[in-house]
Amino acid sequence: MTAPSVVWFRRDLRTHDHPALLAAAERSPSAVGLFVLDDVLLAPAGKPRVDFLHGCLRDLNDQLGGRLMVVRGKPAEVVPRVVAEFGAGSVHVSADMGPYGRKRDAAVEAALGVEFVRTGSPYAVAPGRVRKADGEPYKVFTPFKRAWLDHGWRAPADTDASTVDWVDAATKLPAGESHGERDALRAWEDFRGRLDDYARHRDRPDLDGTSRMSAYLRWGCVHPRTLLADLGENHDVYRSELAWREFYADVLWHRPETARTNYDKKFDRIAHDNDTDLFDAWCQGKTGYPIVDAGMRQLLAEGWMHNRVRMIVASFLVKDLHLPWWWGARHFMRHLVDGDLASNQHGWQWTAGSGTDAAPYFRVFNPTSQGEKFDPNGDYVRRYVPELRDIPGKSVHKPSGVKGYPGPVVDHAQERQVALDRYAAIKS
Ligand code: FAD
Repeated sequence: MTAPSVVWFRRDLRTHDHPALLAAAERSPSAVGLFVLDDVLLAPAGKPRVDFLHGCLRDLNDQLGGRLMVVRGKPAEVVPRVVAEFGAGSVHVSADMGPYGRKRDAAVEAALGVEFVRTGSPYAVAPGRVRKADGEPYKVFTPFKRAWLDHGWRAPADTDASTVDWVDAATKLPAGESHGERDALRAWEDFRGRLDDYARHRDRPDLDGTSRMSAYLRWGCVHPRTLLADLGENHDVYRSELAWREFYADVLWHRPETARTNYDKKFDRIAHDNDTDLFDAWCQGKTGYPIVDAGMRQLLAEGWMHNRVRMIVASFLVKDLHLPWWWGARHFMRHLVDGDLASNQHGWQWTAGSGTDAAPYFRVFNPTSQGEKFDPNGDYVRRYVPELRDIPGKSVHKPSGVKGYPGPVVDHAQERQVALDRYAAIKS
């Protein structure tokens, strides 16, 4: 009898278009499906992301006929133990390209007595592959995107769970909601009907104009290749957004330390404040700036925030409150269901001006006019800030003396100037 393989699932919680699963099936007709609950990764994630993960594991377990093995522990101990227990001949994974994942996988590989096979990654093109003619990484998005498109990617792999005889590993997952691959594919089908309107609606938080695929992509419930294969020539704006995800993964792959530190070292010298009361007001959505408060409350309520509003609240934290971007990034990572180290840290560095190909620091978002422009009827604000529900139309962006709603915690015009002065001091 051929020894079974182990398919160790991580950021690839699906059965379709799964090259690592295909590689395992080619090695052996039977496999152990394994997921390791690793406290190093779970500790910074808040309840919404952990709940979502459990929902994805339930869906995957169903698709594996109830045979997914879920074990809590350190991967470098758990994976070799499972291999020994089942007499497995190889371990198959989709490569993890993040700073922690790379180190973890090297440790697991060293501790295994069998082959550790990496096939595919969570990206259409694995980070590190797209390079300039001289071998250097791209630092600017548009040429990266051009080279990424030229590089191209394979067609979606034809896999499903029934290609493998799953070894019965009998783990009981706690009961609860199921998310995951089947939800992801349904949501994508639904969004495809709205894809033609994406370019027009994507900046409007009051409309249901974006795909909401981010959490599914985060956990690999769907591979970006599957989405890219469905796009037509007139869907370039959506293709570009997926390219941003790949760009940031590439940047972090080359510069893993930028998960914690400024990409642009000149920003190491910028002066920060450290007012924790202001930080709390921001976290709770009580800044007195309606679009900021709506966004921060959407984050707390849903574990998700619209992209335009992520930019507005991030700008407010960095340039109006003068707090370090990593304070905001940590709060986002705790609450976002789609919290992804590369997209989040570099989304923050983009706003803070310290990232690669970032927004120029001197472009300071005015939270009131951003609200008026992108939430023109005020519907988004009224949905998340009940204190302002009786204010009609776009005047909701300029409330004054509303009972129960705070006045502005800072004066935008004044703080904008402070931000510009601090920037001028580090520019030279
Ligand atoms: P859509 O507009 O439908 O876009 C489709 C997909 O493209 C998204 O699911 C996502 O995978 C990708 N994408 C879109 N915009 C970006 C972008 N600017 N950068 C990278 N990928 C993008 N995205 C995350 O997935 N995880 C994060 O932790 C995260 N943190 C962010 C923090 C800040 C400060 C900012 C400004 C942006 C952040 N983003 C993050 C990017 C973006 O806001 C979300 O991907 C998007 O809002 C998710 O909603 P959607 O799936 O409906 O997006």
